[in-house]
Amino acid sequence: MAKDYYKILSVERNATKEEIKKAYKQLAKKYHPDLNKSPESEQKFKEINEAAAVLGDDAKRSQYDQFGDADAFKRASGSGFSGFDFGSFRDFAGFDFGDIFDQFFSGGMNGARRRSRRGANIRVDIEITLEEAAEGTTKTLSIPREETCPQCDGSGAASPGDIKTCPECQGAGVSRRTQRTPFGLFSTTATCGTCRGRGKTVERECPECDGTGLVKRTRKIEVKVPPGAEEGTNLRITGEGEAGEEGAGPGDLYVIIHVREHDTFERRGDDLYVKAEVPFATAALGGEVEVPTLQGKAKLRIPAGTQSNTVFKMRSKGVPYLHGSGEGDELVEVVIEVPKNLSRRQRELLEEFAERPKKKKGFFK
Ligand SMILES: [Zn+2]
Ligand SMILES: [Zn+2]
Repeated sequence: MAKDYYKILSVERNATKEEIKKAYKQLAKKYHPDLNKSPESEQKFKEINEAAAVLGDDAKRSQYDQFGDADAFKRASGSGFSGFDFGSFRDFAGFDFGDIFDQFFSGGMNGARRRSRRGANIRVDIEITLEEAAEGTTKTLSIPREETCPQCDGSGAASPGDIKTCPECQGAGVSRRTQRTPFGLFSTTATCGTCRGRGKTVERECPECDGTGLVKRTRKIEVKVPPGAEEGTNLRITGEGEAGEEGAGPGDLYVIIHVREHDTFERRGDDLYVKAEVPFATAALGGEVEVPTLQGKAKLRIPAGTQSNTVFKMRSKGVPYLHGSGEGDELVEVVIEVPKNLSRRQRELLEEFAERPKKKKGFFK
């Protein structure tokens, strides 16, 4: 069965760092092989340390939470847990595990050669009309962003000769320190302070970017909005985000689509919904009515005796599917228009109509 670090430390999944530290301290004392002579104590002690090393480190903990169990976490992170050799715990003498917890998991052990950071993603929100959403459109956006300095190619140096191997760490980016602790010797690595983990230093800085390797530029970027885009559609344009640090790739550009409300149509998924007024006589006798569509006016045939609020479907007059081929429908709700200003003749005819005896017999028989 997969190991659960929270269970090992008997803490809740939302435990604070303080609670984890407390739990670790108690369990480490309880199971330390020098104090606890039961055969499984050593294994148990290792597990506790392993669990604390992950849950005590914010970055590792959040990574672990994504995977949910120790094995998946180890596979994903390569090792999951390393740092010191748990096989050789000796010299235990009332040691304060709270201190060791802080010392181990405050980040001091995690010093490493710093990898160049990938550029940040950029998010841009744009608004388009319903017509543009249905047909697809191309928008030109002005994106202010950081780009790799063209003069130094991101190195930050005035000339290639100004880039030197860090004299402090000889290019390793880390400095190593060996410490004696109650657990025995273990060595920690720390990020080199001179070169900040980059392994090299720059003698004269590039005047264009002041040594940062990055310059601010505003770029025009064309974005194709596909037919069928809807509110919240998220377009990712790979590599058009902020430039990364030297040697690392740029971020991505995310364009979030917002579709403006339409005066006539209401969008319901891929369908369009519209209300159409139909003259009283046409509803009674049947006939053709003119209705708006995104492509212009169209004719809709309605049968005799159409009631108010009947919804007719006009196939494929809706919005194209964003994924796959085809399109939604247009739904037309009929609203019967009752005439307001009747001529004398119309009035007479309607009065005659109203007086006619209602013969419903035939219908129900
Ligand atoms: Zn530069
Ligand atoms: Zn260095």
